Amino acid sequence: MKKVIIVGSGIGGLSAAIYLQNAGYQVEIYEKNDQIGGKMGRFEKEGFKFDVGPTIVMMPHIYQQVFHDTGVNPDDYFTMSRLEPFMDVFVNDHDKTYLTSDLTKLASQYESVSPSEFSGFLSYLNDIYKRYLVAKDHFIQRSFRKPLDFWNPKTLYNALKLKTFGSSYGSLKKHLKNEDLVKLMAFQTLYIGVSPYNGPSIYNIIPMIELIYGVWFIDGGMYQYARALEKRFTELGGKIHLNTHVDQVTFNGKTASGIKIAGKQIPADGVIVNADFPYAMNHLIQDSTLKKRKYQQEKIDKLEYGTSCFLLYLGTDKRYDSNLNLHNLKMANDFTKNIKELEQSGLPTDPSYYLYMPSKLDRNFTPNDKSESIYILVPVPNLKLYDNWNDSTIAQFREQILNKVSELPGMADLQSHIVSETIYTPDDFKNKFNAANGATFGLKPTLLQSNYFRPHNKYPYAEHLYFAGSSVHPGAGVPIVITSGQLAANELKKDIEPND
Ligand SMILES: Cc1cc2nc3c(=O)[nH]c(=O)nc-3n(C[C@H](O)[C@H](O)[C@H](O)COP(=O)(O)OP(=O)(O)OC[C@H]3O[C@@H](n4cnc5c(N)ncnc54)[C@H](O)[C@@H]3O)c2cc1C
Repeated sequence: MKKVIIVGSGIGGLSAAIYLQNAGYQVEIYEKNDQIGGKMGRFEKEGFKFDVGPTIVMMPHIYQQVFHDTGVNPDDYFTMSRLEPFMDVFVNDHDKTYLTSDLTKLASQYESVSPSEFSGFLSYLNDIYKRYLVAKDHFIQRSFRKPLDFWNPKTLYNALKLKTFGSSYGSLKKHLKNEDLVKLMAFQTLYIGVSPYNGPSIYNIIPMIELIYGVWFIDGGMYQYARALEKRFTELGGKIHLNTHVDQVTFNGKTASGIKIAGKQIPADGVIVNADFPYAMNHLIQDSTLKKRKYQQEKIDKLEYGTSCFLLYLGTDKRYDSNLNLHNLKMANDFTKNIKELEQSGLPTDPSYYLYMPSKLDRNFTPNDKSESIYILVPVPNLKLYDNWNDSTIAQFREQILNKVSELPGMADLQSHIVSETIYTPDDFKNKFNAANGATFGLKPTLLQSNYFRPHNKYPYAEHLYFAGSSVHPGAGVPIVITSGQLAANELKKDIEPND
């Protein structure tokens, strides 16, 4: 039986691991942390539970697919429920609106501005859905291994059909006039770390996906999904080694031969790296003759990195669940300025932020019935742009954010009810998960770092080496990273038979 090693137990690594173990390979995952899931982690403090990273579940069918594909019923591993409305949004100081995937509510939301805005919304939906189908079939669910896979008339024709040269914001403006309505659909590109003002317009598929497939909550919180993947992998016979930092991928000539951990060589027939691609290039692939010019350190450092996040994980001794939804967004009054600041050095002056309150739906997140578990995420520049997170800047930014949150309805006394507090800055994402430049969503999905131009699932300059994760094809976000794991597994299967 052929042995495959996977470096990292993030969602990309777990997904690849399940597909390969199910196909008859002997798969072992090596994870540096004491927990599986990578950024989809969980920590507990003073009786409160917190999901570390992802919280918004979109495209539920992709979460389920890996279970269907390996012959089991996903409902036996995790369950989820649909949220409606799925997010409360606060704009212009105190105005509250919401995001919904209910067509009747949407119609009244848009018609209350003007019927032509609803008509514009429908034309946006029609346009982006057609482009989504092209993206799905020809770019997201397939990988590229050689130049001819992209540079051929059929793929180039489909690339043109994506009409992706304009920005997300510019594309929305073609359909909608009202600035507030446009912003309600533009901010979602931040989910993958890119500005709507210069991110390719194809990423307007994100609000479409929210509307069409709904937004869901995994019972028990996001970490339950990582646990579900772990369960499926281990019951198929896979092995996970926690607390095991991989130092390098080893090669026999130009073929991956395993990994090295604390000087010890562990052989394998194939290696899938789930650790962040730029980090892996600079640290795990040490033989520079295997990197060619494109992936030498100076080139890797010059790539464009997406935005990062500042997070406050708060436990309170008071309940706030009657005031807010599970998902809440406060949009900066000057949204355009806020987004521009994310691509400059320095911290945003009037930040937008997102607040998640899982204890609203699941009281197990809190130690007792009189408390709340609250997660506040603030998009901030990555460490390449701003690298000055020290005690003083953290304290100032924390204060600024908590003052803003206190302005939300019913949240005025929040600061005096905090009994547990943990802060993550971009440095934590760099140090805990080896996220290059602390960019929480990986390489920025610009036009020149998307599709064929994003690092491939099969490494082009060595054999039997593959990549899965947010900085490689097809990109960031849980469902897309699950797909990345599947694509990496498929690429490996093309090169290595499980039993030969
Ligand atoms: C704050 C935040 C909020 C988010 N919100 C959402 C959301 O709401 N919805 C959504 O769909 N997506 C969201 N995302 C994005 C999503 O979480 C990621 O795209 C996805 O989880 C990334 O998975 P991955 O497998 O690429 O990487 P990771 O989760 O980073 O996994 C990589 C793993 O490799 C390990 N590793 C690294 N180096 C080594 C080494 N040398 N040896 C051994 N192990 C190593 C790391 O410890 C880690 O466990 C969010 C992300 C963050 C950070």
